[in-house]
Amino acid sequence: MKSVRLDGNEVFPSKIVCIGRNYVAHIHELGNEIPAEPVIFIKPNSAIAEEIRSGEPGEIHFEGEISFLVRAGKLAAVAFGLDLTKRDLQSRLKAKGLPWERAKAFDGAAVFSEFVSFNGQVNDLRLELHINDQLAQQGGCELMIYKPADIIREVQGFLSCEDGDVIMTGTPAGVGPVRAGDRFSGKIFAGKELLTAASWVVQ
Ligand code: ZN
Repeated sequence: MKSVRLDGNEVFPSKIVCIGRNYVAHIHELGNEIPAEPVIFIKPNSAIAEEIRSGEPGEIHFEGEISFLVRAGKLAAVAFGLDLTKRDLQSRLKAKGLPWERAKAFDGAAVFSEFVSFNGQVNDLRLELHINDQLAQQGGCELMIYKPADIIREVQGFLSCEDGDVIMTGTPAGVGPVRAGDRFSGKIFAGKELLTAASWVVQ
């Protein structure tokens, strides 16, 4: 089993529940429609990795996401997460109405900073992703169509979250291809306070 870090300890998520199309600006950049209910898909434990791998040139896109760890049915900790996506393949699968697993659930499709327990307001959380010291993505819960409290209620309406499961809340605008050698730096803030951060050099 793959693991993530929570407050310095190893945790083994059984699954990662992902929300698609949760920021209006990102929906527009991909030419999608605003959903009438949350778009939900799953990455398995085997998708978790500690490194970002670039795959074939242009094959894999990054999506920076505020990511929560669930404990006792509640959002207990937060990390910066990357929902790595084979965009062209996803577009072909979507066009045919087929499932997205080949594009979203492959080995290495989920990378996280350390999760940190948080107190205070979930809706104050925001993310920044810098690539080679340039700001590539930023966004926060105030821009989400479905807020974290809505998401966990919706998810738990039809599937059980085990302790340690992860929920990824969708990506703001600014997605793009992962390139070997790029330096990714992801940060999660509560207001102005930096809660957790991580850097990776793309393999
Ligand atoms: Zn995503």
